[in-house]
Amino acid sequence: MSRPPSPLQIQRRASLREHNTFGLPAVAATLVRIACDADVRRVLDHPELGRAPKFVLGGGSNVVLTRDVAAVVLKVEILGRRRVSEDALAWVVEAGAGEPWHGFVAWTLAQGWPGLENLALIPGSCGAAPVQNIGAYGVELKDRFDSLDAVDLVTGRSVTLNAEQCDFGYRHSVFKGLLAGKSLITRVRFRLPKPWQPVLGYLELERKMAETGNRQPSAQTVFDWVCAIRSAKLPDPAVLGNAGSYFKNPVVSEEQCRDIIGRDPEIVYYPLPDGSVKLAAGWLIDACGWRGKTVGRAGVYEKQALVLVNRGGASGAEVVTLARAIQESVYGRFGIRLEAEPVVL
Ligand SMILES: Cc1cc2nc3c(=O)[nH]c(=O)nc-3n(C[C@H](O)[C@H](O)[C@H](O)COP(=O)(O)OP(=O)(O)OC[C@H]3O[C@@H](n4cnc5c(N)ncnc54)[C@H](O)[C@@H]3O)c2cc1C
Repeated sequence: MSRPPSPLQIQRRASLREHNTFGLPAVAATLVRIACDADVRRVLDHPELGRAPKFVLGGGSNVVLTRDVAAVVLKVEILGRRRVSEDALAWVVEAGAGEPWHGFVAWTLAQGWPGLENLALIPGSCGAAPVQNIGAYGVELKDRFDSLDAVDLVTGRSVTLNAEQCDFGYRHSVFKGLLAGKSLITRVRFRLPKPWQPVLGYLELERKMAETGNRQPSAQTVFDWVCAIRSAKLPDPAVLGNAGSYFKNPVVSEEQCRDIIGRDPEIVYYPLPDGSVKLAAGWLIDACGWRGKTVGRAGVYEKQALVLVNRGGASGAEVVTLARAIQESVYGRFGIRLEAEPVVL
């Protein structure tokens, strides 16, 4: 005989301060912990919660909470990780959406399945990783993606999406577009190609190679380097609340870039294969004199102008006010509109 399912874990007036890495105060009218696919369907069948608006929450490392949340917060806690298959070309591995991302990366390496090491130490959950196609040090999630499972938050139907259907772009996917707020990702699968090749084109990794004299690092060494680089330049959210990069790097035409270089020859930029140019948002903010500044209880991190921080007790409104002031001054000086990376609620 199968065991009856444990009751849905529903919490009323749940504080979200512990559930967002900015440490912003907000209260969810209702928070439901989602431990398996069936929990999503039970929420949808629930007489009171079924038709209410929903908000899916992972580790809260890419959200800015500016107010209490009236929508039902679905806190994703689906665990589990496994190797799905292996052939001559790749290992395919799967993670439950609630698995912490960094722990999953470390686990794949420990199993002898390299490929995710450049994405080490990114906070958050595996289920949120495809939402903005996380990326760091020359690798994006889409480069190692196989497929994912999700549940439609209206019909309760399960779907499996491949990379094309996810419509990945720079810090973008279908979950920020057509499917925004409409699906809950339950499991993500990764294709880790064989033979493994390190990705070392990033300036800071090149520096590590030069410093150590190690030109053929193992995946574990790349992982250790990435962790060391990140720890030195990014604030630990447990110590100083933040959501990582607050703005996306803007992409401009070659002509626009030439124009800016004419005025500011020092600007940091990366030419893209399609002829457009990605500008370093951190450099633009720094050039406007924002690094280290504080407005109210929110501020700009001293070591990296792209990161906004909670100096202690800040509200979401204070963070957003600071972000707007930065956007205005960058627009005023460079004519470029910076776009926020985190989801502002
Ligand atoms: C110090 C720091 C460094 C960071 N560095 C990087 C970096 O290098 N590169 C990078 O890309 N990002 C970076 N980030 C941003 C962040 O870590 C990632 O975006 C991460 O994937 C967010 O995961 P989360 O579980 O915390 O998502 P949350 O913040 O909980 O949610 C983010 C969005 O995803 C949605 N979502 C969450 N889980 C699911 C799910 N299971 N199904 C459907 N939708 C879901 C939410 O509704 C929300 O819209 C950094 C953040 C911090 C604090």
